Amino acid sequence: MPDDELLQRLRRFHLDAFPQYREQFQTLVDEGQHPTTLFIGCSDSRLLPYLLTGAGPGELFLVRNVGAFVPPYDGSYGHHGTAAAIEFAVLELHVSRIVVCGHSHCGAIKALYGEVSPEARNLQRWLDLGREAALPVQPGPEALRRTEQRAVVLQLERLMEYPMVRRRVEDGSIALHGWHYVIEEGEVHVFDVATGGFVAASKAKSSGTGPYAPYVEHDGQVLVD
Ligand SMILES: [Zn+2]
Repeated sequence: MPDDELLQRLRRFHLDAFPQYREQFQTLVDEGQHPTTLFIGCSDSRLLPYLLTGAGPGELFLVRNVGAFVPPYDGSYGHHGTAAAIEFAVLELHVSRIVVCGHSHCGAIKALYGEVSPEARNLQRWLDLGREAALPVQPGPEALRRTEQRAVVLQLERLMEYPMVRRRVEDGSIALHGWHYVIEEGEVHVFDVATGGFVAASKAKSSGTGPYAPYVEHDGQVLVD
């Protein structure tokens, strides 16, 4: 490689892109950030939250991890990055929306049906957060898609275990959004808690899940008690 490509890109950003946003960033520095949305998305390189939502600087508080999973609020306080980010976004930033965004062809979901390198001990453990969404079938494209969607619903349920989230969802100051992004269609499918299904954004009435119910039925099954 003749040049440091990444260094060139950093210089290009500073010279070409940054000047267009200079004032906006200055305001965000002077006044601080006030993002309205906590976006919990899979780390997959094909999922681009800013592109999907049309958001600009200061609008999204992002957490990304393998699978877009939410760890349980179980009192095992430790180095839990995603849990810490949820607490920060809700208690300090006062976000009004929390999006959980999974996607098609998700490697984490596929891994629920296969083997993971024994050396990847953290990954093994992390994938436990999706196992309840897996179906007792051979994983074809349809089963994988359903598992991806079920995993999103599972994370929403787990979000509701966070006391500060539950309080705000119940009093209406936070709305939950369960999304499944279909990469090849360029369309987000939105979870509708009333029907228990995912509806393409082009046909959905809302980008959110709707009012929270004590449990969620999905595909005719109660996913979490
Ligand atoms: Zn993924």
